[in-house]
Amino acid sequence: MVIKPRIRGFVCITAHPAGCAAHVQEQIDLVKSRGPIKNGPKNVLVIGSSTGFGLSSRITAAFGSGANTLGIFFERPSEEDRPATAGWYNTNAFTAAARKAGLFAANINGDAFSDEVKRQAIEVIKRDMGQVDLVVYSLASPRRTHPRTGTVHKSCLKPIGTTYTNKTVDTDTGRVSDITIEGASETEVADTIAVMGGEDWEMWMQLLEENNLIAPGASSVAYSYIGPELTWPVYKNGTIGMAKIDLERAAKRIDAMLKTHGYGRAFISVNKALVTQASSAIPVVPLYISIIYKLMKAKGTHEGCIEQIQRLFATQMYNGSALDFDDQGRVRIDDWEMREEIQSQVAPIWSQITTENLAELTDIAGYQKEFLKLFGFGIAGIDYDADIDPHQELL
Ligand code: NAD
Repeated sequence: MVIKPRIRGFVCITAHPAGCAAHVQEQIDLVKSRGPIKNGPKNVLVIGSSTGFGLSSRITAAFGSGANTLGIFFERPSEEDRPATAGWYNTNAFTAAARKAGLFAANINGDAFSDEVKRQAIEVIKRDMGQVDLVVYSLASPRRTHPRTGTVHKSCLKPIGTTYTNKTVDTDTGRVSDITIEGASETEVADTIAVMGGEDWEMWMQLLEENNLIAPGASSVAYSYIGPELTWPVYKNGTIGMAKIDLERAAKRIDAMLKTHGYGRAFISVNKALVTQASSAIPVVPLYISIIYKLMKAKGTHEGCIEQIQRLFATQMYNGSALDFDDQGRVRIDDWEMREEIQSQVAPIWSQITTENLAELTDIAGYQKEFLKLFGFGIAGIDYDADIDPHQELL
């Protein structure tokens, strides 16, 4: 099959196996080039491990710290005339490389919110890993079937209270327009918290504890975002922001639980705004990302998911001293994004942007390139006209 990108709105419905493998290899090479992470984790569970920050966490743990990893994700295999999703190919590329390096790597493809997937994970950890010393919680999901009630909760990305209007960009066509988003109802807020809040993270940690699978001194981290005031109505003060507050609540409870396991810790890392499958679905934010990409590249401070997570592990989590928390007890690897020298330039650029000057004022080209790369496209050295077998058994 010859596989080309097929973009539908903010998703690409095809993925290229060789391109995804090259993208994973790039990340492995980056981590290796930065050298070993001393005292890093050795047995790691990554929930949401196939793309974005979760994949980068898994790669950093394995290739920076020689960790055995169990990855949990929800991806679609290939069908007769359709390639698999990018996360499927990413996982196989990672797993092959990790095993080649002599590392244990196991995968569970299924709904992380379900009791069944949790039970399978417990089995694998008991049988093959002993205890875990790091749990990374990096899910981004549009829905959750609650394992106790059976209710299907759907998350949404909306402001709360009032209707919000701002600029947004169609990242496929480069058209800038105004978008108006209705304020969320109370039910929508509650549903988004049920999906993207902390309850499921707590369920995972509780189950691990009940099964005595948490190593003394273990850490657990989940990822959040804050960003500038410009995006607050749709992010920090919107439905997703309320879910992130709940994630912080869960972090405190899990932290207290891990403290009973010999100085363990759970915390939130606030990460940079980056092109991922999850962030491309958020209105307004992709336009902001295109601006900061340009500004941060000019300053030499631009990072992708892998640079972010490698820095989190090497300079914060495993640097031999205490974590550097903000006043709310969160680790901030969005620090370079939030610098005054960057943020002071965003609003003046924002107010001027139109479809006509988008390419000049922002790094929309960089955004589009990164977006395609998420699906294995636009990578040097890959022959996209060649016939390639899209079918792969999950390793
Ligand atoms: P992503 O879409 O790249 O990754 C999501 C992962 O979750 C994938 O591995 C997917 O397979 C998995 N997943 C989704 N539903 C699942 C389910 N039901 N069961 C099992 N696995 C499931 O997203 P991302 O951008 O890397 O987001 C990860 C976390 O980082 C989120 O909490 C997000 O809010 C946070 N974050 C993202 C950004 C950003 O700009 N992208 C910035 C800061 C924080």
